[in-house]
Amino acid sequence: RHLLTTACGALAAAAYGAGARRVALPAFAAWAGLTAEFAAARVLPGPRTPGEVARMLVTSAAIPPAATWHRLRGLLAHARAGAWCGNRAVLFDRDDTLVRDVPYNGDPARVEPVPGARRALDRLRRRGVRIGVVSNQSGVARGLVTRADVRRVNDRVDELLGPIDVWEVCPHGPDDRCPCRKPRPGLVVRAARRLEVAPSACVVIGDVGADMRAAEAAGARGVLVPTGRTRPEEVADAPEVAPDLRAAVTRALELLAEGRPR
Ligand SMILES: [Mg+2]
Ligand SMILES: [Zn+2]
Repeated sequence: RHLLTTACGALAAAAYGAGARRVALPAFAAWAGLTAEFAAARVLPGPRTPGEVARMLVTSAAIPPAATWHRLRGLLAHARAGAWCGNRAVLFDRDDTLVRDVPYNGDPARVEPVPGARRALDRLRRRGVRIGVVSNQSGVARGLVTRADVRRVNDRVDELLGPIDVWEVCPHGPDDRCPCRKPRPGLVVRAARRLEVAPSACVVIGDVGADMRAAEAAGARGVLVPTGRTRPEEVADAPEVAPDLRAAVTRALELLAEGRPR
């Protein structure tokens, strides 16, 4: 009915503007009738005080076009949206994948996202994909930064690119034999568990071979986005290679849509 009312009103206005009175008059009459009927339905049960009646008359004219506008906007957004990817996750490496690598950074002021990071993450969010970060921070074990420093830097990343659904950080050093430092699978497995997503429904995006090997060891897929510091053999060994974050997210969405558990 709102759509019909709005169409009659628009037709009346357009016809009047074009000087077609034979169309404008009946269209206007139809609009007025529908609007009066709508207003009556809203006034009759009410307290019927003058203020209430006036408010109902004004809003009864305003509601049909507003409702029509919102409905059309929703239909358009729905038509443009891609397939929903619930129960899936993309886990990102942090340094040189989401933000520029500042070795052993403990200073939130030095956090600088890579170009397109915000848009890439928002694209995933619109599709219902959960987002995690899995990051080796051996600077903690080396005594170069504290856990609190790392947390502050991560908070800054969250502020610039968030919300990020889970953070998993390995504070250990290469000799600690922990289960979490990439290329071991601990961070990926833990992030997937916290997101209640199967590792096979996760894609790991990172800039080095250790990210890819952690993904593989956990049963997840990997997409490498090489930087100038990525070694050629790491690129050659990667299961998937993308030139930038945007392309990596496109590929990740394809892999997740396949939904093929490994
Ligand atoms: Mg990295
Ligand atoms: Zn660890």
